Amino acid sequence: MPGDTTPPRAIREFHKQCRGAIEAVIVTRHDAPALTAALMLGDPKADVVVGAIETWLGGAATKKHDHSPLCLGCDTRFHRDSPPPTAFVLAIPFASPSCAMVSGVCGACAEREADLLAMAMRFWRQIWPTMYRTDAGQG
Ligand SMILES: [Zn+2]
Repeated sequence: MPGDTTPPRAIREFHKQCRGAIEAVIVTRHDAPALTAALMLGDPKADVVVGAIETWLGGAATKKHDHSPLCLGCDTRFHRDSPPPTAFVLAIPFASPSCAMVSGVCGACAEREADLLAMAMRFWRQIWPTMYRTDAGQG
């Protein structure tokens, strides 16, 4: 409905899981070896990250092009006939990394935006306007 600012159910559920703290994870192709090693060592967060990206890719490959996911920074859509994302940005509930909100980033945006976390924060603040950033170990 036009003017309705109520977040979709999935966002509300994700917000509930977060209980106030989100961990941001940026994944590029350079992270594949470390992610693979973490998976082999049974790291539960790596399992969530890889599982969420697999689910996202599966959705992008099967949705109609005009319903496929958008790049985090522009109107590029990701689908089976498009180039894949250059990076993924994930929001994971800090207290219980059991799920993730995934966004793809196209090559042009990844090249233009040196700080993908800053790009993600701009997007996330549309959902959670009071969100602020703290680095690990400071909170
Ligand atoms: Zn883009």
